[in-house]
Amino acid sequence: MKRSLVIVGGGFAGQQACNALRRSGERIALIDPSPVAAMLPALPDLAGGWISEGLVQRSFREILPPNVEHVQAAVSAIDLDAGTLQAGEQTIAYDQLLIAAGSVPNFYDSPFPRDRMHALGSLDDARRIRRDFEEYLRDTDRPHLLVAGTGFTGLELAMSLFFRAKAAGKSCGVAIVDPTPVLLPSLPDKQRQYVLDFLTAQGAEVRLGVAVESFDGQNARAGGRTYENVFFCWAAGSKLAIPDIRGNVGRLRDGRLKTAPDLSLPNYPNVFAAGDSAAVERNGPPLRKAVNFAYYGGRRAGRNLLRRLRGRPTRPFRPVDLGWVVPFHETSIGRLPFGLWVRGRPGVRLHHLMCGLRNYSFANFAGFLKLAGKGKYA
Ligand SMILES: Cc1cc2nc3c(=O)[nH]c(=O)nc-3n(C[C@H](O)[C@H](O)[C@H](O)COP(=O)(O)OP(=O)(O)OC[C@H]3O[C@@H](n4cnc5c(N)ncnc54)[C@H](O)[C@@H]3O)c2cc1C
Repeated sequence: MKRSLVIVGGGFAGQQACNALRRSGERIALIDPSPVAAMLPALPDLAGGWISEGLVQRSFREILPPNVEHVQAAVSAIDLDAGTLQAGEQTIAYDQLLIAAGSVPNFYDSPFPRDRMHALGSLDDARRIRRDFEEYLRDTDRPHLLVAGTGFTGLELAMSLFFRAKAAGKSCGVAIVDPTPVLLPSLPDKQRQYVLDFLTAQGAEVRLGVAVESFDGQNARAGGRTYENVFFCWAAGSKLAIPDIRGNVGRLRDGRLKTAPDLSLPNYPNVFAAGDSAAVERNGPPLRKAVNFAYYGGRRAGRNLLRRLRGRPTRPFRPVDLGWVVPFHETSIGRLPFGLWVRGRPGVRLHHLMCGLRNYSFANFAGFLKLAGKGKYA
């Protein structure tokens, strides 16, 4: 099958590209295995049962422009030299391609039973954690969370579940371990200490330089200590969502594709990458994985796809860092423009505001606005 314009992935980047091409007169195929677009930053809230599922998703049918056809399939391979991709059973040839499939949790070569590990990369993951944790709390007198990975996702998830247990009247142990020696390495010492103090004040045991050595589906061992009957969460890394990309393309260790300034791949001018699929390097380390870079990168990539198609020169992506806020249930840490730091409840409000503004419908926007107004969950 031949398609002129293909977008792989309908997250923030893919949807913005679709919107940029809305009035192009081109037919676009958006390939995504999910029937809905998901608001990933709100997944820890969903996993902890603090918000309703409706707030974090919208069906593609409702939000895609009329010139975009949603092909519900997962892309398993892309052959850049042949100009083809494998989507489910279909082999599709493309003229122009945008790779915007985001990232998925990376289990590396972990030998632990996968069905007893809880990672958080998708709506399905959040649903599963919510269901399994509720069941675990019901069946367990002395619940204990073990979280591998002290990045933002691991810490957010740990706190969301910890407070869920508290709300259920259970005293829940929390151990958060990471083989690296530093918590949240992108933060300056003072801000890192703030997060650490909050976690320890809640009774969390943060063990740096410690890896999970064994996990049999129920009991785990880490740094010489045994944790019995744990609820085990895995947040130790992520990788590109498309398993097999063949061609002469530069990659980061997590699989992200190195792009030219206009977000095309250097040896393939008809192929672009944006959002978490792209390694955008501008005189420094690659941009972090974040909603705003995906949102504006997707829009730029969409416009450049059209320019390329019309034989016009493409334009560089000029990312603007609008800062970031990461919530840890009822506190937060964040950095706003002009170097301002935000902490505590104001940051939680800002996070919910962002989840509303970048959401997919007015109803979802209004729901998060209400949450931001309250400044708390219950
Ligand atoms: C738990 C969590 C919390 C986060 N919190 C924040 C935050 O607070 N602030 C912030 O700025 N960023 C946050 N992020 C990061 C942010 O969500 C991402 O940077 C952003 O979603 C990237 O957008 P994207 O469009 O590249 O990918 P995504 O939003 O991940 O969308 C990718 C799309 O591709 C589809 N897809 C996946 N695999 C395939 C495949 N094989 N074939 C076809 N389609 C596929 C998916 O179904 C999805 O629709 C968080 C991420 C997670 C996981």
